[in-house]
Amino acid sequence: MKREAGIKWLFLDLNSYFASVEQQENPKLRGKPVIVTPMDTDYTCAIAASYEAKAYGIKTGTMVKDAKKMCPNLHCVMARHDKYVAYHHRIIEEVIKHTPINDIWSIDELSSRLPPNKRNKEDAQKIAQKIKEGIWRNVGEAINCSIGFAPNSLLAKIACEMQKPDGLTILEQESLPQSLLHLELTDLPGIGQNMNKRLRNAGIHTMHDFWHIAPKHARKIWNSVEGERFWYLLHGYEVPKLATNTSMIGHSRILDPNLRRPDRAITILRKLLMKAATRMRNKGLYTRMIIISARTTTGQYQSYCASMPATQDTITMIQHIDILWRHIIATFMQNNIHKREILLIKKVSVKLLKLTKESMITDDLFAQTTQQNIIKATKNEALISALEGLQAKYQKDVVTIGMTPKTSAGYVGTKIAFSRVPETHEFWD
Ligand SMILES: [Mg+2]
Repeated sequence: MKREAGIKWLFLDLNSYFASVEQQENPKLRGKPVIVTPMDTDYTCAIAASYEAKAYGIKTGTMVKDAKKMCPNLHCVMARHDKYVAYHHRIIEEVIKHTPINDIWSIDELSSRLPPNKRNKEDAQKIAQKIKEGIWRNVGEAINCSIGFAPNSLLAKIACEMQKPDGLTILEQESLPQSLLHLELTDLPGIGQNMNKRLRNAGIHTMHDFWHIAPKHARKIWNSVEGERFWYLLHGYEVPKLATNTSMIGHSRILDPNLRRPDRAITILRKLLMKAATRMRNKGLYTRMIIISARTTTGQYQSYCASMPATQDTITMIQHIDILWRHIIATFMQNNIHKREILLIKKVSVKLLKLTKESMITDDLFAQTTQQNIIKATKNEALISALEGLQAKYQKDVVTIGMTPKTSAGYVGTKIAFSRVPETHEFWD
């Protein structure tokens, strides 16, 4: 393992992403305090806050009721995940014009390994400027991003966090550790409250303390090789990726003509999900975001996503994709209302994103529910492995998972963010 010279990685994070997209879509919201909420009630929390709202102390996770008290002229808008996914694709298209993309970490974060001839300060600044201007010009003037450059992707992410909004920070090997010493340990990605407690118990209170421990000591504190890996990355080493460092697991399929009716297509989508979920569990990972998409035989395309507490549980994931599927079908039907064409689905796909290891689920917004999920997962595990066993044995569809259709009200407690809550009559079944 060696310390990387120069700046090898770019990390980009969109600032207040969901809120910025809403400000882009509705110019009246620009320059105003805005929060995005998953439901139209005071008893849920903000899933994004504009910088104007952040100035009042409102953050992701603040209860809507409290946010309204902190800022009386607050604008609350319901999340529209279809829009956020569409903007995500446009942003990716723009970024890729200026630098290759290596990892898409989430809907608003990506990293890029710079080509060898671009690994210097001057070129890095030029690339960042081109990306920012390209996004303003071709995606939306209200969409800002922070960009960090550093010898590896962890340091690039840390650099990216240092200046918000619209930041540009370059962390060079030679500036370590001075450039990091002003940070709190909890400012580092991956160090949440639980890990911070473990560090404190080990007598490590500051960045300075952490910098000077031995890498093996970090491994002991983490109780995993991840700790040692984290230490090396922080020190500017290029650390080989662990096999578990998967950022996305997904499957898609072109449907045979006899499977193109929406009620048949969803059964294929559920099977693809089961396959992806099995792969994910085998890697010891949990997902916090599911995206599904579908293309019709007439070329229409829709994609919806749901965020959720970290889960490994197939039944929970299937409940989420069933809801997303109804949104997709409702949108296709709405677009098709005057054409009287029969709705046929040609291609379906499912992606599991925001993958995390259990040891890293520390500072999650929904952390309190993670344990419940794990318990629920073990309950469903027997059922799922039975299903997987049967499918492997007979190589055909002897069993499928069927879900009773539910109205949106039945899912209010699951904290999924919808684009909008559909009316019952919009459901295809
Ligand atoms: Mg962001």
